[in-house]
Amino acid sequence: MRVAVSPNPTPNRLPNSRLTPKSPAPDQPQQPHQNPGLLSLAGGFSADRLLDLSYATSAVPKFIYPTVTGTPEQQAMTWEVLNNLPMHHAVRPVSIEAQPSFSQGPNYLGLNRVAIGRITVNSSGYDMELPSQFKETVTHEVGHSVDYKAGMFSLVSRQNESTHSSFGKPGYVSGYAETSPSEDFAESYKVHHTHRGVLEAVNEKKAAVLDKTDQASWLERIVDKPAYRETGKFIGRQFESLPILRSGLELARQVTVANLALVGGTEAIQGVVKGDWDRAASGLLSAGAGAGLAMAPHAPWLGVAATAALGGNRGLKMAQDQGASAAQKTAATLAGAVGGTVGGFVAPLALVQAGYSVAGPIGGTVGMVVGGLLGSYAGSTLAAKAALAITQ
Ligand SMILES: [Zn+2]
Repeated sequence: MRVAVSPNPTPNRLPNSRLTPKSPAPDQPQQPHQNPGLLSLAGGFSADRLLDLSYATSAVPKFIYPTVTGTPEQQAMTWEVLNNLPMHHAVRPVSIEAQPSFSQGPNYLGLNRVAIGRITVNSSGYDMELPSQFKETVTHEVGHSVDYKAGMFSLVSRQNESTHSSFGKPGYVSGYAETSPSEDFAESYKVHHTHRGVLEAVNEKKAAVLDKTDQASWLERIVDKPAYRETGKFIGRQFESLPILRSGLELARQVTVANLALVGGTEAIQGVVKGDWDRAASGLLSAGAGAGLAMAPHAPWLGVAATAALGGNRGLKMAQDQGASAAQKTAATLAGAVGGTVGGFVAPLALVQAGYSVAGPIGGTVGMVVGGLLGSYAGSTLAAKAALAITQ
């Protein structure tokens, strides 16, 4: 799949003269003078901060739950499934939508478009009126999301967890599991989470792999608290009437991250070719950050590294703009990296907790947005400014 990317995300600041208002007609009262660059400045500011919000939602361990649609009973059953799964699995899909019927007929019970995280289940599929069948189908489909290595690398390599382990080999939990390694993974996942002990009896190796995926990393455990779970469910529910918007935002986030890596890589290569080492370093930091954010859903510590690289790059650019010495550039880059990590990673997480304690899930959501919009920018620029002032 090819992804169309927009050019360098750096906002254009229009020269002031282009926006200077024409002098008012003589009979009109003189308007108070307004800074003509203010509007374009505000536009540039918000575009930059929106990118920061997108990066922050990619960097922090995932806690936003999928958007769940269907009848109230179907929604309740889906939530029951999600609540019984490890949190880092429950937040993997973007949306889980119960549809009245499938064009493929009642044989198809569910479908998971893993690349965009969209799960649909067929309400008129065989036995789907039975709660057990409905819940097992949802669990099977979430299993595909857990199997899928998300991010741009999977678009290139198309590799799933199931291609590297015992899946697709005898010792199957069902006839359907025999059709492919990825269906074997999803079927085994379903049995593992709905009938404890059965998979161990059928195939110990597969059970061991799934036991391992159940373990959350220490970063994922940070967000396994009521403040993040309830805020994450609240954010997921805001899209119930329009799950496609949620998918669109997820796609935009992925393109933003891929764009960061591509533009950074291009800058790095041009810097090397032209012997401009500052440009090469800056490009490498962007490329590394983009790659880290793309991999963060599966290796959460890369999200921390990515916010450091973004902050470091901001510090380096600030030092370049001021014509700083090589030593000062290093100091500003390092300080920006530390400040960017505190602002872009710690701040959004802390503000969710703080907002939740003040105003519940709504407060948590506000905290996430405020932290994401401002945290990385404020953290990295303040730290880089301090470093430049100290080393002067
Ligand atoms: Zn399947």
